[in-house]
Amino acid sequence: MHTGIAAGPAYANPQPAHQGPRGRTSNAHARPGPAFDRGSRDRLKVPSAAEVVDLPGVTLLFGLIDMHTHLDSDPEAGGYGFLEFTDAYWTVIAVPNARKTLKAGFTTARNVGSSDWSDVALKQAIEAGKIDGPRIVPAGYSFGATGGVFSHNTESGQQQLTPAEIKAVAEDVGPQGCSPCPRRFRHPRRGLASIDTIEHASLIDDEGIAAARKMGTWLSMDLYNTEYTQSEGAKNGVLEDNLCKDREIAEVQRQNFGKALKAGVKMVYGTDAGVYPRGDNARQFAVMIRYGAAPRQAIQTATINAADALGQKDKVGVIKPGAFGDLVGVTGDHLQNSGCWKNPPS
Ligand SMILES: [Zn+2]
Repeated sequence: MHTGIAAGPAYANPQPAHQGPRGRTSNAHARPGPAFDRGSRDRLKVPSAAEVVDLPGVTLLFGLIDMHTHLDSDPEAGGYGFLEFTDAYWTVIAVPNARKTLKAGFTTARNVGSSDWSDVALKQAIEAGKIDGPRIVPAGYSFGATGGVFSHNTESGQQQLTPAEIKAVAEDVGPQGCSPCPRRFRHPRRGLASIDTIEHASLIDDEGIAAARKMGTWLSMDLYNTEYTQSEGAKNGVLEDNLCKDREIAEVQRQNFGKALKAGVKMVYGTDAGVYPRGDNARQFAVMIRYGAAPRQAIQTATINAADALGQKDKVGVIKPGAFGDLVGVTGDHLQNSGCWKNPPS
């Protein structure tokens, strides 16, 4: 079965967008499986039997990629609230969370910090067609290189693993095809060599920025979630200790994002959704733009950059023959107006 989509402008150029103007095309054409093409209806020769989806005025975008999600968590179970639930509850709750994430335009999600391999179960159920959800890249269990905002009994940035331990983890998982993503390095120069992405990177300093740039390490900086944590955290049971650390760190992290971006450090789009509700994943784009990213650059963090960091740049985050053909329809011109991201893509 062929499917045609008749829509407005599409981001048709999979090359880094700063190298060329926005591609415009009025039609897209997809087949089941990893095949996709775009162009005018005449050029594509859409079969007469094809199902055509009409989306007038809708802008087509590559399927978005969230590199840091917690699908198996609930922001309303803050603090020690999680102790009220069984271990299996978190796998169950991942099912509606996956659907909401997909509906928000995120067709690929790297899930971090799962317990009991619930992220792997989620991936299996989605791939088997049992439930709806994004393509899952399960990162499994987590460890923190340093203390974080939601850690207990540590200060933010307090060293928890030695550089030698981090290096040992990276050397152990690398040959198995896994990609290590420790979080919150203050001084990434030490032990950075085998690390692909750094989560949060809130306290990264000039030395760390220079090292990340030199070594081509991706930063995954969650810039939106403080707005939810500060407005809703207390009523969700988040402890005052954690709220206080969040208040201290949020603006520092945002400023460091701007500095790192300006210095040319590579960025991917990681939201930490799970700390805040799924479905709002796209709200971070507006914060990235506010702190220095060009709208096009912000979108690239969730498309070609994230795909590259995952080692899947020919499959996801692009629209071209051979890719999966994940498409998202958005209303409004999100290159000109970051406010468009307040409304979830459809
Ligand atoms: Zn997280």
